[in-house]
Amino acid sequence: MKTVSSLLDSEWYKRYKAISKLNIRSSIYDVTNRCNLRCKGCFFFSSGEDRAAQEEMDLSRWERFIDREKARGVNLAILIGGEPTLCMDRVAAFYDRLPSFCATNGLIKVPRERLPDMMVGISLWGDEEDEKLLRGKDTFSVSSRNYEGDPHAYYLYTITPRQMGKTERIVRRIRDAGLKVHMQLLSNDEGVDAFSWQPSQLRDIRAEMDGMLEMFPDTVISSKYYHRIITTGKMLDRTFGWNECPSVTQPLDPRDPKPKHLIGFIRWACDLKTMHRCCTSATRDCATCKDGAAHMSWVMVNKRAHIRSEQDLKNWIEVYEMFAKLYQFLPW
Ligand code: SF4
Ligand code: SF4
Repeated sequence: MKTVSSLLDSEWYKRYKAISKLNIRSSIYDVTNRCNLRCKGCFFFSSGEDRAAQEEMDLSRWERFIDREKARGVNLAILIGGEPTLCMDRVAAFYDRLPSFCATNGLIKVPRERLPDMMVGISLWGDEEDEKLLRGKDTFSVSSRNYEGDPHAYYLYTITPRQMGKTERIVRRIRDAGLKVHMQLLSNDEGVDAFSWQPSQLRDIRAEMDGMLEMFPDTVISSKYYHRIITTGKMLDRTFGWNECPSVTQPLDPRDPKPKHLIGFIRWACDLKTMHRCCTSATRDCATCKDGAAHMSWVMVNKRAHIRSEQDLKNWIEVYEMFAKLYQFLPW
């Protein structure tokens, strides 16, 4: 029988042991229904999730809710929205109680004197031209000033089909700002012309992402296996989609039998009562979903399936390490 120790040499086995201790239990929280941008293709607004629940305004209710989440076993709070930094008191309430990650467009700086080491993921949708087209603003010029050299921040670069051939310039600018970058692909939830992926484009962008990782290994937080998974939707002999997705809110999950999934995962709306179906919008067609975190988690929850060859297991370890770095469970 193949076992982890029979497949790995001592160095890889040490890496495996380091991540096998982590036991990450994440959930996602809509901190607010509001945002200071309205990006075309934002799953939150395009699916009407901003109107699914009335925002809880009483901070003490947030504090009690977070305490309950902690008691439920959550050890990673992923804060999204809307734009979480519009409600810094709520963000701070999470930070004081749980390891927390804040997804932001970077226009408002997280006060580092109050939240010194909270990991911040800054969204970026391409170069100045694409950002203006999709988000109405070149956010990089503001966010890179706000976070230059910050060791607890990175760019979450959503690559669109129009970014092909342009990623090197973007990654270089991020490196020059003293920051890291993680890449994912646009799902084009609002069907903006020329922003949906064609199969040949997915092949090309995979090669480009691999090239960025080789060229900027200290800046790009990624793995070639992740690039393969996200561009093909295939893992081992399986295809990503509703029947495989690990990031479905557990109490709402009707699937029977259930696939391997994130234990206790819930995506909460900001009334602190309503749950959303999954880590992205309930109106998204799972067949076209390119959500990076869902694909990463898909790999991570399927460890056993990867214990079939040395390379498969190493691929699994690299994806797990990537996730752990992005959420500060391992150092860069
Ligand atoms: S900044 Fe984020 S939450 Fe706000 S509209 Fe854009 S994608 Fe949506
Ligand atoms: S839209 Fe994506 S994240 Fe949501 S259930 Fe479908 S595959 Fe999973």
